[in-house]
This record gives sequence, structure tokens and C-alpha cells, in this order.
Amino acid sequence: MTDYFCIIAVILYTVHGAPTDLFHSTQNCGYESCNPVKDGMINVHLVPHTHDDVGWLKTVDQYYYGDQNDIALAGVQYILDSVIPQLISDPSKRFIYVEIAFFARWWREQTDSMRHIVKGLVAEGRLEFILGGWSMDDEATTHYNAIIDQHTLGFDFLRQNFNDCGRPRVAWQIDTFGHSREQASLFAQMGFDGLFFGRLDFQDKANRLKKKTMEMIWKGSPKNLGQTSELFTGALYNQYGPPSGFCWDFDHCDSSPIMDDERLHDYNVPTVLADLFKAVNDQAVHYQTKHIIWTMGSDFQYDNANVWYKNMDKLIKYANALQANGSNINLLYSTPSCYLYQLNKAGLKWTTKEDDFFPYSNDPHSVWTGFLTSRPTLKYYVRRTNNFLQVTKQMDALAMLEDTDNSTYNINILKEAMGVAQHHDAVSGTEKQPVAYDYATRLANGVNECQKVINDAYGKLMPLGSQKPPSHQFCTQLNISFCAVTENNKMFQLYIYNPIARSVEYYVKLPVVGQTYSVIGPDGTAIETQVLPISPDTMRIPERNGSLATNELIFPTTLQPLGFTTYFIQMEADKKTNPNHATKIKHLSKSGDSDDIVLENLFISLTFDHQTGRLKNMKNKRNNISINMTQEFRFYYGFDGNDSRDELQPSNSYIFRPNGTQTYNCSTPSLTTKTYYTEPGELVQELHQTFSPWVTQTVILYENARFAEFQWTVGPIPIDDKLGKEVISKFTTDLKNNGFFYTDANGREILERRRDHRDTWALNLSEPIAGNYYPINSRIFIQDQIANVQLTILNDRSQGGASIQDGEIEIMVHRRLLNTVSLGEALNETGSDGKGLVVRGSHYVFLDTVEASAALHREKAEELFMAPQLSFTTEQTKYSDWSKNFRTMWSGVKQALPPNVHLLTLEQFAGTGPAPSQSQPYLLRLEHMYEADEDPTLSKPVNVSLQELFTTFEITSATELTLGANLPLSQLERLKWMSADGLDTESTDDQDSYLKYQGLKLHDSLTVTLTPMQIRTFQIEIKIRQQFKQSKPDSI
Ligand SMILES: [Zn+2]
Repeated sequence: MTDYFCIIAVILYTVHGAPTDLFHSTQNCGYESCNPVKDGMINVHLVPHTHDDVGWLKTVDQYYYGDQNDIALAGVQYILDSVIPQLISDPSKRFIYVEIAFFARWWREQTDSMRHIVKGLVAEGRLEFILGGWSMDDEATTHYNAIIDQHTLGFDFLRQNFNDCGRPRVAWQIDTFGHSREQASLFAQMGFDGLFFGRLDFQDKANRLKKKTMEMIWKGSPKNLGQTSELFTGALYNQYGPPSGFCWDFDHCDSSPIMDDERLHDYNVPTVLADLFKAVNDQAVHYQTKHIIWTMGSDFQYDNANVWYKNMDKLIKYANALQANGSNINLLYSTPSCYLYQLNKAGLKWTTKEDDFFPYSNDPHSVWTGFLTSRPTLKYYVRRTNNFLQVTKQMDALAMLEDTDNSTYNINILKEAMGVAQHHDAVSGTEKQPVAYDYATRLANGVNECQKVINDAYGKLMPLGSQKPPSHQFCTQLNISFCAVTENNKMFQLYIYNPIARSVEYYVKLPVVGQTYSVIGPDGTAIETQVLPISPDTMRIPERNGSLATNELIFPTTLQPLGFTTYFIQMEADKKTNPNHATKIKHLSKSGDSDDIVLENLFISLTFDHQTGRLKNMKNKRNNISINMTQEFRFYYGFDGNDSRDELQPSNSYIFRPNGTQTYNCSTPSLTTKTYYTEPGELVQELHQTFSPWVTQTVILYENARFAEFQWTVGPIPIDDKLGKEVISKFTTDLKNNGFFYTDANGREILERRRDHRDTWALNLSEPIAGNYYPINSRIFIQDQIANVQLTILNDRSQGGASIQDGEIEIMVHRRLLNTVSLGEALNETGSDGKGLVVRGSHYVFLDTVEASAALHREKAEELFMAPQLSFTTEQTKYSDWSKNFRTMWSGVKQALPPNVHLLTLEQFAGTGPAPSQSQPYLLRLEHMYEADEDPTLSKPVNVSLQELFTTFEITSATELTLGANLPLSQLERLKWMSADGLDTESTDDQDSYLKYQGLKLHDSLTVTLTPMQIRTFQIEIKIRQQFKQSKPDSI
């Protein structure tokens, strides 16, 4: 194999000569455009690059323009302005650009002639897009839905402006704080040939350097997707900066320039070359091939690119000149993909990895697990906004809104805001406070724009005749029971859009001022309701200031699959007319009854101690499982230090460093838990707990639910003692999990975690708490294999968590820290009243057998991240009048999808898709929601017929695309790699160096098969169904 590659190398690279005329060149991008290497020598790939954070210390706009340079000296526009002339002047020069959020801003400002020049540079591989996402997303706190979307957005920009030469071949996660296996799997499915990153645990790095395994094949989905999820992965030697002494940025570095006039006193070429050879050899000894990569650049560098390039020109010239004297070191301008290509050509067998790179520690006391929970309300807002974006895209597609409706423009505003929010200093919570506000403002603006799209879609989907429906209003603070529409109107209509293509049972909870309400459902029948007082923990949230509501109206709904359902709500004057709806509320006294309090429905029961009000037992009644379980809130004191040495590392927005292993009770000694609860036999039972003035909780059990919801309200975290605190919700059981626990990766596959252990090296843990924390994007569970019991907890946003002792699960919910060393400011969110942020969230707790649990948590996780979207109108109308003019329920699918299939994407392609199209194509993604061994039935492969799927349009043809929707799958070729374990199918003696794919191109049968965890992406051509054209709703 090696010989074969050498022959190719000679043919390819001895004839290489970069054309100098930009305007007459043929497309020569990709691996063929790489500068020549020298076989037998150590080739040093100099990769000029800039790392441009899409917001961090400054906002994304401030970084772009170079505003607020007293905060950080950085102006991205000048970087691109400055680099392009350098590339034009010399065909051997290279530059990579990564963050499309910035590049798209710059591109908009350019003249046609400059765009033409830049297209020429891209076509020749001199300017290369690497990664190509809207941002370099965080990997620990992001959801896969948003990761896929933000890459699709960046890829779409590149495809439309640069065609295939704009398609990135290499992923580049150089600064993210640890690395997720799911991200690697998604990258492989997007068609990337490889991934490079900068940060890995210091012990892991030392071990890999010693064993020469910094570069490997990462198996992104070993149980489910196999080869299609494997990704060649390289850990960079110098994180992502240049070697010491070789940094020549005008604004950010202080290495001596190369002073090469021998007549001058400061002539330093011999010194520089001696340092160079030492640095090259120091690095090369830890890597397997004759190639090493030098990342020549760093944060916001190259705003005066000449300084970098002039010195690198000299470095290359003088170093390579020594080859005549026998030196075996060869320097060249290169890119990550050109480096990757040489690794591939080396024909080696590489080690494999099956776990992930979490948690990341850069020294014994700096474990980066604090950011898993930092800025919990921003994390929640990002998750909810993803939900809203999916709803908007679906409704835009189902209603077939046209560009005249401005929907594409409006949706793009939210897509871009979401792309920015996935950045590794955005949803991660590691940005400065004003930047966090900027991210939230962008999301809010995008949501406002998309509310217009939803209104337009309802305008098309609701009418039975010519009457136009009233405009919808939205309540974006229902999570804290605040909604002007439901509080100020005695009569209103509620529309619930369900973005899941299956019917969903959903309990509506609306803030109201009255005691009694009548609710009429979509078919005209009365719905059972319940009115409860708003819990004390909700009432104390300062952001509710202005709300009039004192009660919550609750009723059950059955929602149309991928469609809307309407409810007619009216306040009744006299509550005595409806005596059955009055809810009995029982207060728990301190002396109390002798009977414990039990919340119970058909499926589960929860028992609370009659004196303390704390949980003591949970039962699954169907499977006769009963475990002792307590739940409480405790906190760690965050360590405060000046960071002058490892042991003085403070806890901060990135790093979780508790002051010891001890946790503390949130209650002050004089205060006991106050509890009161509602009687059984209702739609919903609630138990209100007060742990301390700043920690309260409502435990909620719905009539038909298999889970209990623990809705917590935490904050303001007191700092009167000048000590930072990190608050956890802790569940303690008698389950024996033997040190193992399980967490999801980005909301998809489950990874096994083992306390005080890493799969690939012998761990020496100095931080026994923080070092056992892992990202929880959607769920964490422990199993007692002997008892066949699984306790599963789902969350509503990304958080950090662990099982520190057997039988325990702890999840960090909020942190407030006062140390200012890392960012110049504390992680001290103060909320709307300036007293300290109050955070509201929920944990959903399931108890069942091991084999029954996957079906529960997979379904609930989907319902959480694709929750129903509520909107309102306030017409003074009766159901009977209304239903003459408007549909009261409607579904976008002819039949529900199978229970293991998730409709991941349904949207209009903003431009046109990558496959030739006769009309405006759509983008469709279907996903198998289960892993291979999770459920006896639901883990099986499943077929979906596209032909008869949607009600408003039929699908006439479908072309399968890569996951990032930038290439027909049949055109994808990925570099093949051989693994040392010999298990890969590509390690055959097949002479083709590329992996080929067989994308489905469907015309006739239009039936798609999905295997466990598979996502299939289609560009679909659609034809409007005749019935919809004629607006005869009853038949669709
Ligand atoms: Zn960064």
C-alpha cells in the first residue's frame, strides 16, 4: 500500500505548479491543489490560520468590526482584508477560514470584482474553508439538532457562493473544551475526511505523545452506525498556536522577527534555524509519519497579515536552503486538509478510539466541567429556541409559504442567531455578561421574526373559506407562568402546534386570574379542567413582575401529529357552577399527620415523609419496583484562588473546582422544609417544597404520566458570606450501580461512564468530584443489574452531573462564583432585579426495568426538545361559529410516523439544493431514534414510505444527501483509513483510496429504511396536492 501511494505522490507532485493568473485558472481545489512535499524528509506543514470566536469577551459584531478594542484587540474584517492581498501576491501562500458567521458578514460587503478574486483563490485551494459551520460549536452543551442545523447553514452559504470548492473536507474544533463522540459521528456523516482539535486531557495527551497515538481513527457510533461514523482524528501538538518563538502576529505576539541582513548587528537567522530544528524534532518524535503540522496563528491574528507571511517566507527560504547541505527538514505552506492527505497517503494502520474526550482537564486541578452548567437560563433559552425554529421551518414548509411572504428572510434571522449561539463561548456560558445578553437578544429578535412566519402559515392552513384568521399572539414566558393573553382575557383561543409526527398527550398549563374555566376542544366537546394556585416557588420569580395571574388552568390534550389543535377557553363567572373542579389543597403542618404523603397515579407513586416533606420512596406500580430514594438540594463552595499555580485554581465559568468533596445543605438550621400538596384523584397532583428561601420545588404528577416532574426554582444564590456556590439536585437511592452510570452525547447515543476511570489511560484524579462530572444534554441514568432496575432522569437543558457514590445521581443546576481571575469578571448573574439570578427548570424521573426504560426516555426526550408550540387569539366567538370558518384541527401527515422514527428536519431549501431541481426543493431528514440493543422491538430497522407521508404535498422524487445537505450522497468520496485492530471493512486490499457511498435516488417506491441511530437526509421534489390548491380542507 505504501509503495502505491508513493507512486501517486510522484506523479501528482512533481508536475505541480500553481497557476499565477487567477482569472484563467481551472478549478483545482481539494487535495490536488496542495503544495508539493518532499518524500524522505520531515515535512513541516505551516498552516496560517486565525481563530475567530463568534463572541466571547466582545460581541460577535464588536469582534467583526474591531469595536471595543480596549476589551480585546480584535477586528475580523481587517483579517480578511489583510490576508487576501497576501494570497493574491504569491500562489504558494495558503490561508484557511473557519467561522462562516464572520465570513458571510465580510462577503456581503465586497464588490463583485473582489468576490471574483476570492472565488479564484478558493478554486485554486489557496483560500480554503475548513469546518465551515456558522460557528465552531461547543461539543458538551449543544444538542445534535442544533449542531446539524448550524453546519447546514454554513455549508449552504459556501455551496451557493463557491460550489464544490467551498465544501470543507476537514473539521476543525481547535478550541472546544473537550470533544464529544457524537460530534465526531455527525462530522463523519457530513462527509468530512478528518477532524483536528487542540484540547485534550493533559494525562491523555502525555500518554498519547509517548505512544505516538495523537492521531487515530475515532469510532463515532461503534454499536450502531459502524464505518459511516468513523472519523480520522488528530490532536494538535501545540493546542492551536505556533511553537514558542515562532509567532509573528503584529498585535498579539512578541517573537523576534527574522533579521536576515548579515550586515546588521541583530542578524539572527542561525539562531532562528537552530530553534526551528529543535522544535521540529521535538514534535516529530511524537508523531507517526514524516509530516507534522504547525498551526501558525491564534485568536484573532492576521489583522496585519504581512507580518506573519513575511517572516514565514523567510523561515521557509532559509530552512529549505539547508537541504542542499543535507538537512532533512522541508517547510511548506499548507492547510489541515493537505496535511491530512499526506497522513492518509502514508498508508499506516492507526489505533482506534471508542469513548469520548470528556471531561477535559489542563492540569490536575483544572477540570473543565463547570461550563456544563454555567449560565443555565441561556442554555435553556437556546434549547427552547431550537424547538421554536423547528416549528417555524415545519409550518413554513407545510403551508408552502413563498418568498413573497418573506418567510425565508425571517427564518434566516433565527437560523443565524442559533448558529451563533452554538459557539463554544455562547451556549457554553463562558462569555462575558454583556455578550451573554447579546446572544439572548439575537435569539429573541429571531423568535420575533419567526412568529410572523407562523402567523402566515396559520393564515394558509386554518381557513375553510375566504375568511382570514385573526393574528396569533405568543407567550414566551409560560415556563414561569406569565402570559398577558391568558391573564387579561376572559375568552381566548389556544392553538397548539405539535412538531412531532405522532399524536402526543400533553397537559396544558396556563397562568390565569379566575377560579373556574370552561374549555371546549377541537371537536366541540367540553374538556375536564383543573385550577390550581400558582406555586409559591413560581410566585417568587422576579421576572414575573407585572403578571396578574394567581392560578394555573390545567387540562389534558391529545395533539394532532405534525399539526395544530384548537381549544376554546372561557372564564366562568361563578366557580360554584363547577364544584367538581375545585381542588382540595392540604397544608402540611410541622407536627403533621402521622401518615406519609403519597403522590400516586396508575403507574407510579412517590412517598414523602410526613414530618420533613422530603421524598423517601418511589414505586413503579406496574412492574412492582420500589426503591428508597431521597432528593434534596445541596451545594459546593467554589474554590477561590489567584490561579498563580495549579493548586490555586479557582472555580469559574469554565472550571468546576469545589472547595473539597463536602456538600452543604441549602437550608439554614432554623428553617425546616415546608410542604403542602393537592389531593389525589385530580388531573395533576402537586407537592410544594421549600428547602430554603432560595431553593423551592414543586413535584408534579400528571394523571397519565409514567414520570414524576421535579420542577425546581433555585436562586438568588446567597453571597453575603462572599463565597461562591454551586448548587446540585441530588437523588440518593439504594440501587447498586457498581460505579457505572450513563449519560447521553448531545441528546443522541448513550455513553457508559465509570467513576474514577477513563477507558484509554490509567487515571490519576486530583479532583474527585469535578473529574467525575460529564455533560448531560438530555438524560442520565444508573442501573442495578441484579435487581433489574433503572433510574433515569431527563433534563430540559444541558447540565453537568455525576454519580459520585453508588446509588446516587447529582445534577448541577445553578452556579454563582465571585472569582474574577479568568475573564476579569465573576460568573455572577444578577437577574432582572439585580439580586441574583433565579433559575427555573425541571427534571423528569422514570423508574422501571432496564429493558423497559429506553422506550420511556427516548420518547420523553423527543417530547421535551420538540415540545408543542402554543399561540393564542382573543376573538369573542363561539365554537359553533368559529368552526364554520376555520379548521379546529389539522395534521400535516396522512398517517403518524412509526414510534421509533423522528422527523428531524422539514424545511424549504433557502436557495436550491445541491442536486439539480426543477422547482423549489425541500429538505427532509428522518432519524431512527433508538440504539441497536436498547429495546426488543423499537430497536429494529424500520421502513417509512415517503409517497403518502404529507397531506399538503406529495413527494415526487428524493435524492439522498450528506448529513450537512451540501452534496448528493452518491457523489461523496471519503478518504479510507486502515485501523490497527483490523476490524474495519476498509482495511481490505481494495486499491481505491476513497470510500464511496450509495445514496438513494428515489423515484418510484419512495420507501426509506432506517437502521438504529441512522439519520437520512433527502432533497425532495414536491407537488402540491390538488385538494390543498382548492382549499378543500375536509379531504386533506
Ligand atoms: Zn475559541
